[in-house]
Amino acid sequence: MHMKKGILYFLLLLLILFIPTKTVDLIIDKEKINDKEEDLEWVENPSQDSTEVFEIPKITKPTNTSTSSGTNWWEYPNEIFTTKRDGNDLLVLVNKQYKLPSKYAPSDLVKASNSGIRRGENYSLRNILIADLTRLITDSKADGIDLSIVSGYRSYQTQVNTYNYWLNKNNNNVALVDTFSARPGHSQHQLGTVIDFSSNEIGDRLGDEFANTNANKWLINNAYKYGFVISFPKGYESITGYKFESWHYRYIGVEYAQEVVNSGQILELYLQGCNP
Ligand SMILES: [Zn+2]
Repeated sequence: MHMKKGILYFLLLLLILFIPTKTVDLIIDKEKINDKEEDLEWVENPSQDSTEVFEIPKITKPTNTSTSSGTNWWEYPNEIFTTKRDGNDLLVLVNKQYKLPSKYAPSDLVKASNSGIRRGENYSLRNILIADLTRLITDSKADGIDLSIVSGYRSYQTQVNTYNYWLNKNNNNVALVDTFSARPGHSQHQLGTVIDFSSNEIGDRLGDEFANTNANKWLINNAYKYGFVISFPKGYESITGYKFESWHYRYIGVEYAQEVVNSGQILELYLQGCNP
């Protein structure tokens, strides 16, 4: 028994150490290499962004992951396609069916702090949204609202890391993790146009408690005026494939955001219409 485990560790180590060009595709089972985690800093960030920070959201586990008949809302479809629009296109549909190429990274990443958002020095966002975000931050402050950023651009490689982290935390319960964490290539964060917001009202933590803040109420009423739309609204899990995330907003530009509001559709359905 011990021999077998020893051999397994050894093979895993060999794999990690000697096939570095393949790391992008590797899903490491950290459960089996727990005591070696310190030595296995295998993740590298190939993007130009060296300031990515991986925040850990505090979320409650969904209660209904053990149902049911037919397809479950968090499941990935059998057929996965590459996104129909380019990653730089503000209206590109990225979801559980359409994934970004692993090599895609935005070309205009800048520090989020250019907008004046608190904690922005730790994160990158696309320059294309900075002017509107600057207005958003200025106007929200004037209304007595505090907003901070707790996640922005995440590279494909960081998403590999993020998804594996959650698998590890949840005994490799894929069904559970798929309800709240995107698999690599499927994350909107790879676009560089997504912000996970927090506030000093909740100590800049990331997670469900954001829903009860004044900052959240302000965003619900105003975010679209600055081009931002919530991606995973409450009650639409079966359409988005994700648990409600009050903090996760995607920038699509002021005109399109206004169109989403006028249409009465959620972002996911609006973008499906733009990516037939
Ligand atoms: Zn997010």
